[in-house]
Amino acid sequence: MITRFAPSPTGPLHLGHAFAAFLAQDMATAAGGEFLLRIEDIDRSRARPEWEAQIFNDLRWLGLSWSQTVMRQSDRLAHYGAALDGLWANKSVFACTCSRRDVLDALAAPQEGAGVPTGPDGVIYPGTCRSNGATSPNDPAPKDAALRLLMSSAVGQNVFSFHETGHGPNGETGLIEFTAQDAIRNIGDIVLARRDMGTSYHLSVVLDDAAQGITHVVRGEDLFEATKIHVVLQILMDLPTPIYHHHGLIRDDAGKRLAKRDDARAIAKYRAEGASPDDIRRMVGL
Ligand code: GLU
Ligand code: ZN
Repeated sequence: MITRFAPSPTGPLHLGHAFAAFLAQDMATAAGGEFLLRIEDIDRSRARPEWEAQIFNDLRWLGLSWSQTVMRQSDRLAHYGAALDGLWANKSVFACTCSRRDVLDALAAPQEGAGVPTGPDGVIYPGTCRSNGATSPNDPAPKDAALRLLMSSAVGQNVFSFHETGHGPNGETGLIEFTAQDAIRNIGDIVLARRDMGTSYHLSVVLDDAAQGITHVVRGEDLFEATKIHVVLQILMDLPTPIYHHHGLIRDDAGKRLAKRDDARAIAKYRAEGASPDDIRRMVGL
């Protein structure tokens, strides 16, 4: 078993992160496997070296240790670019120049969330640029536009599945299946490369889990629906599908999920108040 913890250095680690990291390491240790670390820092506008330093500091203090060198997504942009060129060449992606506003206007929606169809990656794309197919599939994918997955071509007539050993937000567990039609209707043509980033969370996470040989992805149940995107991408790029273990979210006293900006629940704050790593384990119910 190989598990991983994959934080983004865009804020302090809080109790929810500690839970995910402990759980991933505990599962690997119990199975005599390995626990790896990956820094998900593709969003250059939000990632900060100070946050990354704080992550290492907090994880070591919690008693976590990882085998192998840390993977850093900002070192892997060439891999993401090569994968996109491949998807461009086989016409699985198309260039999209729509702004957020354009997308909402095409849906005739006054604002995001006002009755617009949404999926695990937000508003479902209305298809405006879909006919901008790869007119030059032998050239590299364009860099001056976002690249969207042409979902109808990516999924074909397939039925998709993955194994869930934890649970989704509605208790989904075991063999999770979904059809090509489900993916087209409920996910749609998601962005695989943002123009400013040259990649996206979905593309990078799938390529990196495969590159690190991750056998069990342990993460919060808020990413359960996004797993369907990941499975489609794995099949499309001929990558193995790991087993998924989604866990419940640590909530604040009002039952609201913890967010990065909730510094109040930062590990660093509990540390400063004299909590021990075992106290943190108990706080998250481990
Ligand atoms: N980097 C993501 C986050 O911090 C985690 C992604 C994942 O575990 O797949 O929310
Ligand atoms: Zn568009």
